[in-house]
Amino acid sequence: MNYVFNPAPTVSVPVLGTSARFPVHRIYCVGRNYEEHAKEMGFSGREPPFFFLKPTDALVVVNAGEPGVMPYPSLTQNLHHEIELVVAIGTGGKNIKAADAHKHIYGYAVGLDMTRRDLQNEMKKQGRPWCIGKAFDASAPIGAITPAPAAGAIANAEIYLQVNGQDRQRSNVSKLIWNIAETIEHLSAAWELQPGDLIYTGTPEGVAAVVAGDTMLGAVAGLQSITVTVK
Ligand code: MN
Repeated sequence: MNYVFNPAPTVSVPVLGTSARFPVHRIYCVGRNYEEHAKEMGFSGREPPFFFLKPTDALVVVNAGEPGVMPYPSLTQNLHHEIELVVAIGTGGKNIKAADAHKHIYGYAVGLDMTRRDLQNEMKKQGRPWCIGKAFDASAPIGAITPAPAAGAIANAEIYLQVNGQDRQRSNVSKLIWNIAETIEHLSAAWELQPGDLIYTGTPEGVAAVVAGDTMLGAVAGLQSITVTVK
C-alpha cells in the first residue's frame, strides 16, 4: 500500500504474562455508572447507560511497574481524575446478550478517564458534545491488561484511587449500576464491537481535581495498578 504520508502506528497495550501486545481499536466510556458518583454529579443514579468515545491516541500506556506521566492539559483549570475498570474486548459482535458477554472479554485493566471538568460542565450547560472535556490528548492512562482467566473475581473487586498517598476514591466493582455484562449488551446494541475495543466502565464517587506535580495511584484488586504523575 502506498500512502501520501506514513500512517500512525497501531496503539497497543501490554498484556501481563506475554510479550504479545493488545492492539487497540476503539475506546468506549460509560457515563455515570456508579450511583454515588451519579449523585455527586447531580443525577438520580437511575438511568439507562450512555456512552462516549475517546480516540486511541488519548491512551497513556503505563507498563507494569513503571511510572506513567501525563501532561497537564491545555484550556482547563479543573482537571479531574476518574478511576475506572477497563474491559478489553477480544472477540467482536453485535447484539451480544449479557449471558454471553464473558465470551467476548479478553481481559481487564486499570484506567483513568481524565476529565477537563470545567469544559465538560460548560458543554453540558450548552447541550453540546463532551469531546473537549473528555477526549483530549493523554486523557486515558491505562495499565497492563490482565487476561480474564487470571483476573480473579473482578465483579467484586475493590477499586480505588489515591493522590499523593491520600485516598480520593474507594469503592467496589459490585456497585456498578450496569455491570460488565449488561454494559456489553447495551453497547453492542448500538455499535458492533470489534476485537481491540476498550470499555472504560465508569467511575465511583470521589472525583476531584489534580494539579501539576500530583501523583495518582489507581488500582483494581487483582489487576496491575498504575501510577501516573501530572506534569
Ligand atoms: Mn468516566
